[in-house]
Amino acid sequence: MDAVFKKIKQDQELWELFTKKEEYDPILLDKYGRFPYYLSTQRNVFEPEVSDFLIKNGMNPEYPEGRKFAVCLTHDIDFVCTGMLNTATRTVKALKKGQFVEASILPFSRINKRWNPLWNFRQTMELEEIYGAKSTFYFLTLDPGNQDFTFSIEELEEELGHILDDGWEVGLHGGHEAYNNPTEIKRKKQKLEKVLKKEVIGYRNHYLRFKTPKTWELLAEAGFSYDSTFGYYDCAGFRNGMCHPFSPYDLNTGKEIDILEIPLSIMDTTLFSHMHLDFKQAWKLTEKLILTTERHRGVLTILWHNTNMQGDYLEFYKKILQYCAQKGAWMTSGAQICNWWKKKYGNYGQAEM
Ligand SMILES: [Zn+2]
Repeated sequence: MDAVFKKIKQDQELWELFTKKEEYDPILLDKYGRFPYYLSTQRNVFEPEVSDFLIKNGMNPEYPEGRKFAVCLTHDIDFVCTGMLNTATRTVKALKKGQFVEASILPFSRINKRWNPLWNFRQTMELEEIYGAKSTFYFLTLDPGNQDFTFSIEELEEELGHILDDGWEVGLHGGHEAYNNPTEIKRKKQKLEKVLKKEVIGYRNHYLRFKTPKTWELLAEAGFSYDSTFGYYDCAGFRNGMCHPFSPYDLNTGKEIDILEIPLSIMDTTLFSHMHLDFKQAWKLTEKLILTTERHRGVLTILWHNTNMQGDYLEFYKKILQYCAQKGAWMTSGAQICNWWKKKYGNYGQAEM
């Protein structure tokens, strides 16, 4: 068994927290099949107790250019404005074909409104670039008739190409049932890969729906390198006491699972909708989690929806970027973190002890 597992196992309480034993046989799940923080016996979610123990016992994670810690920036794309998309795509296609007449009658003014919250990928990338950051966009890849279907991924082919060309990541945002359905996960991975013409290695499930440890097993089997779903939707913090990427352990099989978990700590809607924080309180908590991650030389994963790239929510996101840039954090995509971690610490992604 891996040295890290052995180390944690010395302390029964920490081992149960790390493996999330309480989630194996829950007395209750919510209507989306999620295990919420309010059902957990863990009451110290803002402290990464397992990571703390590992650091004190010799774990010594390193990041590129000697940076002290990392921030994994992510965006789940549930909605895009297909009306605008169609106009933009049709115009570009018309121009390419030399159909200037047709192109000129299309409403160009609409295309340039890139602050539209449903069509702001390039704007988001430009903003992140100012702070030397990159990020991941997890796209829903639904079929008509699937719950929450609003756009076909094929329509976004050109835009997805720009995202990849600029060095940002496109990952799969699995639909409602994917977390519990191996066929669905594999089919949607292939569907997205067909559009991207590139392998998809990163995953997050819609609504943070997740079953411990089954979803990890399904994702590993489908060929994903990493997942970033594992966080509570109803409370920010460290769901299994880890503020570092880790390979999960399956208590049923007694084996580690061949996938890297980059745990999610802060989701925009968690702060504002589920925890009911105002901007001041939300910043206080965000700052605390950033400082805690920095102190443990960890990785803090943040999820900001494309629909929240406006108004005060956009300002809040900018504040995170600015603050973490000042601290010299490595701000990047899930894929970059995954590749770095696996290359540095082996296939199972555990730091050496
Ligand atoms: Zn979603």
